[in-house]
Amino acid sequence: MARPAAVFFDVDFTLIHPGPRFQASGYHATCAAHGIEVDPRRFDAAVKAAAPLLDPHDRRYREEVFIHFTRRIIEGMGGAGTRVELAAREIVDDWAEHRHFQLYDDVPAALDALRGAGMRVGLISNSHRSLSSFAAHFALDGLITGGVSSSEHGYMKPHPRIFQAALDLLDVPAGEAVMVGDSVAHDVAGAHAAGMRAILLARGVTPPSVPEGVTVIPTLADLMDAIRREEGRERKAEGKGQKADVEGRRKKEGRKKK
Ligand SMILES: [Mg+2]
Repeated sequence: MARPAAVFFDVDFTLIHPGPRFQASGYHATCAAHGIEVDPRRFDAAVKAAAPLLDPHDRRYREEVFIHFTRRIIEGMGGAGTRVELAAREIVDDWAEHRHFQLYDDVPAALDALRGAGMRVGLISNSHRSLSSFAAHFALDGLITGGVSSSEHGYMKPHPRIFQAALDLLDVPAGEAVMVGDSVAHDVAGAHAAGMRAILLARGVTPPSVPEGVTVIPTLADLMDAIRREEGRERKAEGKGQKADVEGRRKKEGRKKK
């Protein structure tokens, strides 16, 4: 494959990360306002334990999935009582607001480089945050062609349909697109199932078990190089293939002459 026509990005923990509203202190404050006692020190373990709830079997987007996930975090921090549901709903509602998130520093230059090299940029997100106002809010105007969020689309990553919807939106065949994201299960596996290539972004963490052949980058500053390296590798493979074809033909012809 030549240079990709489009590069799609996951949003949460790839382009932006949640601020204090969705960290231990934010959960603690919301719960306190509802008279619920929680232990902020149990936050990380509670998030980890609740994470499987974000993978419903049918991959259908439902707000209840996120409320259940958030409720379980509060309970994992020791919260109990009838108001836990209310606190969870409040937190999930706020997850829809850009202002509670921060852009990673390496994003503007990475998107700029892709656009400069003639690639279109798309977004594929499992959240219910509006992607149409994403670029304006984070001062990325003109850098993003379009995006699909699971709340509008109906399916969540890794369902291949949401990837296909994004490909259709940008009018790019799967074979000419690359997905970049921080989740092997959602971004990499989903992209592969839809026929796209994928690059895993492992920000400050040891990469998990990565499918063979998938490039891992530590920051988006490494993205352009990774794309160029993949182009080079493919050209080499194509070159070898052509050489083998020529040699095979020569041998065949040689045999015919004898
Ligand atoms: Mg993510």
